[in-house]
Amino acid sequence: MLLNDKFGRSFKTLRVSLLSTCNLGCVYCTMGTEEEVLIDRKPQPSASFFLNHIARLHAQLNLQTIRFTGGEPLLYRELPQAIKGVKALGIPDIKLTTNAFLLDRMAPALKTAGLRYVNVSLDAMDEESFFRMTRRRQLDRTLKGIETALACGLDVKINAVMMKGKNDDQVLPLLEYAFERGIAIRFLEVMTMGHLFGHGQEYLFSQDEILNVIASEYNFSKQHRKSSSTANYWQTTEGGVFGIIANDTEPFCQDCNRLRLDAEGNIYGCLSNNHAIALSGAEDEQELGEKLQQAMSQKQELHFTGSEMSMMHIGG
Ligand code: SAM
Repeated sequence: MLLNDKFGRSFKTLRVSLLSTCNLGCVYCTMGTEEEVLIDRKPQPSASFFLNHIARLHAQLNLQTIRFTGGEPLLYRELPQAIKGVKALGIPDIKLTTNAFLLDRMAPALKTAGLRYVNVSLDAMDEESFFRMTRRRQLDRTLKGIETALACGLDVKINAVMMKGKNDDQVLPLLEYAFERGIAIRFLEVMTMGHLFGHGQEYLFSQDEILNVIASEYNFSKQHRKSSSTANYWQTTEGGVFGIIANDTEPFCQDCNRLRLDAEGNIYGCLSNNHAIALSGAEDEQELGEKLQQAMSQKQELHFTGSEMSMMHIGG
């Protein structure tokens, strides 16, 4: 089935939120209450629960990419099985978004299972800023996770959410760390999601502000933006490449190809719409197609507004 909307958008990337809890308490995701950051002790859905949904969606959408996320996907016990299952479905790109706290010990098994790409969330290069952003110490665990992933041959990218007054002095240290290792890095404008909905603007450190900081040290020129890319990219005269995901000041809704699946089996077509569409009610392929149409109609035309749902649940 070909599912396109009036802007020619289709779903090609599925982000799967494997669980809604995390071992860090990042300030853009959570209020830092015990419940939000406590490791979930209740039973996790099985890998086959996710794989059944993914297989049905793939049959209709011919997906190009699965990205496992959460919560923290490395806390999901059947992650290697889930990766193997997606590989067996023939979906070409299998990716993971993680804080890398547990990556040092898990990277080899994940690579063997079929993982190719890892986005590591790293918002600071010094311990105090890292603590301000994540409410945890041990920045070295994340850095070690990155080194091990690189040594295993995984393709690593860094994502850094920039927040005014919290870590806006970390742009250059993060850039230098990435450039030294030849790792791609993207800076993200903070999104008004979850507890920031309605008042996240006070923390906005915009694309222009990020560029101004980088311009104090580097000369760079803008690169052509690939269709469906979440980021704008620039290249320095020395050859370093960096991206900015300007969620707020230059949203990329017009060619967004993402669909989201949460750990309760609900799909979402857009981060600005937190109306869950339950897949459980779709008895046959026609009903599934209707649910996908519903998800497609959630997509915004131009503006990202955010929603009350935290990325911790819907999947970042
Ligand atoms: N725990 C994993 C991690 O830290 O990468 C995966 C889930 S986490 C929700 C994924 C990413 O979503 C975060 O690192 C951050 O880049 C992004 N994110 C979450 N809330 C955000 C917000 N309000 N604004 C911008 N980015 C956000």
